Amino acid sequence: MAAIVRFAPSPTGRIHIGNARTAILNWLMAQKTGGQFVLRYDDTDTARSTQEYAEGIATDMAWLGIRPARVEWQSKRFARYDEVSNRLRAEGRLYPCYETAEELDYRRKRQQSRNLPPIYDRAALKLTGEDRAKLEAQGRKPHWRFRLDGRVVEWNDLIRGPQHIDTRTLSDPVLVREDGSYLYTLPSVIDDIDFGITHVIRGEDHVVNTAVQIEITEALGAGAPAYAHHSLLVGADGKGLSKRLGSLSIASMREGGLEPMAVVSHAALLGTSDNIHPCADYTELVDGFALDKLSRAPARFDEQELLHLNAKLLHHLPWDAVKDRLPADSEAFWLAIRGNIEKLSDAATWRAVVSGKVTPAIDAEDADFIATARGLLPPEPWDATSWKVWTEAVKAATGRKGKPLFMPLRKALTGLEHGPELAQLLPLIGRQTALERLG
Ligand code: GLU
Repeated sequence: MAAIVRFAPSPTGRIHIGNARTAILNWLMAQKTGGQFVLRYDDTDTARSTQEYAEGIATDMAWLGIRPARVEWQSKRFARYDEVSNRLRAEGRLYPCYETAEELDYRRKRQQSRNLPPIYDRAALKLTGEDRAKLEAQGRKPHWRFRLDGRVVEWNDLIRGPQHIDTRTLSDPVLVREDGSYLYTLPSVIDDIDFGITHVIRGEDHVVNTAVQIEITEALGAGAPAYAHHSLLVGADGKGLSKRLGSLSIASMREGGLEPMAVVSHAALLGTSDNIHPCADYTELVDGFALDKLSRAPARFDEQELLHLNAKLLHHLPWDAVKDRLPADSEAFWLAIRGNIEKLSDAATWRAVVSGKVTPAIDAEDADFIATARGLLPPEPWDATSWKVWTEAVKAATGRKGKPLFMPLRKALTGLEHGPELAQLLPLIGRQTALERLG
């Protein structure tokens, strides 16, 4: 079945790794089934939503390789929401309430002190037309609650399995505020129906909303989509990510030089029964995707692991995949250094080692050895065999082998104790520079 899915961020900030994971799971679902991915901006909160954040989210989506088939804005659909809410009013499913926040708070406290659940008591349902007229004459404006059926709502969650929520344990939700603005709950249902959404894949913080939204969907005469609620990310310390979300934004990952497919692979495989490994494109992730591979347990997100995955991804990337971003370099340079970087920007370190200014590190006890080695440098042209030709000759002349042979050469040529294979670096450094560093 071709799934029509949606990712519904509020453009009140940039998306972070947790939201991106939701987006990626939806994108995988669409790709796997030959379906469609709808990007829906939940911008009913017009005071906090901005065009700039929306553009930022679009940039993040593109960077993650997600291409929405359709983009929708809730702020453009108020007429439709008014039409539907008027229908629910006419049917008595949406009813006006006049309590102030303080009154509601007082009632909740009173219920709690009597060990009663803090559920809205539906006092407003008992108001007569006259009562309402009086309240409105006092200048009170109603907010509107949806009258729940008060039954056990059931669905087979594609990640969590069979779910049962008794809506008698919930307050009738407010769908429309005093000023006529919409809370998220109703517009989301209307959009899911109107856009033909077949699968709602979202975080488990929405599980209770789902019971309410299924009731609203049915009140509107529609069939509910399939639901899948994934667990939320926690940090390596097992705590929620909320405090660090700024630094975990997709924008900061991009600016920090991570590869999009490292972020995608990590987000897609976290909390699944598959090993987390780098995928160079979506193909393998799509092939292996199944919602039932997602665990119900919180998924641990560790930035160090992401960095490690980024390095692993780079280690196998062909030159073609990076050459546009390394315009000054060559394929031979890339193949030499790709195993020694965590981020693409680290290429600069090795570029400097190859062609920049290096301070050779030559220990006093190696000075004669290095001088001998310098005299044995083979003539150019150099290729991948030159290092072996040279070090065989040095070995024969000095009797050194193993680390005492190689380490002083590495330190003299690069100024460092670690790095890419010298067999690959030497031809890049070239004879002239090698002579200077060894002398
Ligand atoms: N805007 C909502 C959120 O970000 C969307 C939730 C949903 O997917 O229905 O939480």
